[in-house]
Amino acid sequence: MGIPEERIERLEALAREAVRAGEDDRAREYVRLARRLAERHRLRLPRRFRRFTCDRCDAYLRPGVNARVRLQSGKVVVACDCGELARYPYE
Ligand SMILES: [Zn+2]
Repeated sequence: MGIPEERIERLEALAREAVRAGEDDRAREYVRLARRLAERHRLRLPRRFRRFTCDRCDAYLRPGVNARVRLQSGKVVVACDCGELARYPYE
Protein backbone atom coordinates (compact mmCIF):
# COMPACT_ATOMS: atom_id res chain seq x y z
CA MET A 1 0.00 0.00 0.00
CA GLY A 2 1.39 3.37 -1.01
CA ILE A 3 1.67 6.50 1.08
CA PRO A 4 -1.39 8.31 -0.33
CA GLU A 5 -3.57 5.26 0.33
CA GLU A 6 -2.36 5.19 3.92
CA ARG A 7 -3.03 8.89 4.35
CA ILE A 8 -6.54 8.48 2.98
CA GLU A 9 -7.19 5.67 5.43
CA ARG A 10 -5.83 7.74 8.26
CA LEU A 11 -8.00 10.72 7.25
CA GLU A 12 -11.05 8.50 7.18
CA ALA A 13 -10.30 7.28 10.70
CA LEU A 14 -9.85 10.88 11.84
CA ALA A 15 -13.14 11.89 10.22
CA ARG A 16 -14.91 9.02 11.96
CA GLU A 17 -13.43 10.01 15.31
CA ALA A 18 -14.29 13.68 14.80
CA VAL A 19 -17.92 12.95 13.97
CA ARG A 20 -18.15 10.65 16.97
CA ALA A 21 -16.97 13.59 19.10
CA GLY A 22 -19.67 15.77 17.57
CA GLU A 23 -17.19 17.80 15.53
CA ASP A 24 -18.90 17.57 12.17
CA ASP A 25 -17.04 20.46 10.55
CA ARG A 26 -13.68 19.02 11.45
CA ALA A 27 -14.83 15.68 10.02
CA ARG A 28 -15.75 17.48 6.77
CA GLU A 29 -12.25 18.91 6.53
CA TYR A 30 -10.75 15.42 6.77
CA VAL A 31 -13.20 14.12 4.19
CA ARG A 32 -12.28 16.94 1.81
CA LEU A 33 -8.56 16.37 2.31
CA ALA A 34 -8.98 12.69 1.55
CA ARG A 35 -11.01 13.45 -1.58
CA ARG A 36 -8.35 15.90 -2.76
CA LEU A 37 -5.59 13.34 -2.20
CA ALA A 38 -7.50 10.68 -4.12
CA GLU A 39 -8.03 13.10 -6.97
CA ARG A 40 -4.42 14.20 -7.09
CA HIS A 41 -3.16 10.61 -7.11
CA ARG A 42 -6.03 9.31 -9.21
CA LEU A 43 -6.97 6.81 -6.59
CA ARG A 44 -10.39 5.31 -6.05
CA LEU A 45 -11.61 6.05 -2.54
CA PRO A 46 -12.24 2.96 -0.44
CA ARG A 47 -15.82 1.70 -0.56
CA ARG A 48 -16.46 2.41 3.09
CA PHE A 49 -15.29 5.96 2.60
CA ARG A 50 -17.64 6.44 -0.35
CA ARG A 51 -20.59 4.98 1.55
CA PHE A 52 -20.06 6.94 4.71
CA THR A 53 -19.49 10.35 3.19
CA CYS A 54 -21.97 12.73 1.62
CA ASP A 55 -21.23 13.72 -1.97
CA ARG A 56 -22.95 17.05 -1.56
CA CYS A 57 -21.78 18.41 1.80
CA ASP A 58 -18.77 16.15 2.53
CA ALA A 59 -20.19 15.10 5.90
CA TYR A 60 -18.90 11.89 7.40
CA LEU A 61 -22.14 10.02 7.95
CA ARG A 62 -23.19 8.41 11.16
CA PRO A 63 -26.48 6.58 10.73
CA GLY A 64 -28.96 7.63 13.41
CA VAL A 65 -27.03 10.81 14.14
CA ASN A 66 -26.52 12.86 10.97
CA ALA A 67 -27.91 10.36 8.47
CA ARG A 68 -30.79 7.93 8.15
CA VAL A 69 -30.50 4.58 6.48
CA ARG A 70 -33.42 2.57 5.13
CA LEU A 71 -34.01 -0.29 2.77
CA GLN A 72 -36.06 0.32 -0.34
CA SER A 73 -36.69 -2.30 -2.99
CA GLY A 74 -33.42 -4.10 -2.51
CA LYS A 75 -31.36 -0.94 -2.14
CA VAL A 76 -29.83 0.77 0.83
CA VAL A 77 -30.88 4.41 0.84
CA VAL A 78 -28.73 6.78 2.87
CA ALA A 79 -30.16 10.22 3.55
CA CYS A 80 -27.79 12.88 4.81
CA ASP A 81 -29.08 15.73 7.00
CA CYS A 82 -28.38 18.10 4.08
CA GLY A 83 -31.04 16.29 2.03
CA GLU A 84 -28.70 14.35 -0.26
CA LEU A 85 -29.75 10.77 -0.98
CA ALA A 86 -27.41 7.98 -1.99
CA ARG A 87 -28.51 4.51 -3.07
CA TYR A 88 -26.41 1.39 -2.96
CA PRO A 89 -27.15 -2.20 -3.79
CA TYR A 90 -27.96 -4.22 -0.71
CA GLU A 91 -25.22 -6.67 0.23
ZN1 LIG B 1 -24.85 15.97 3.04
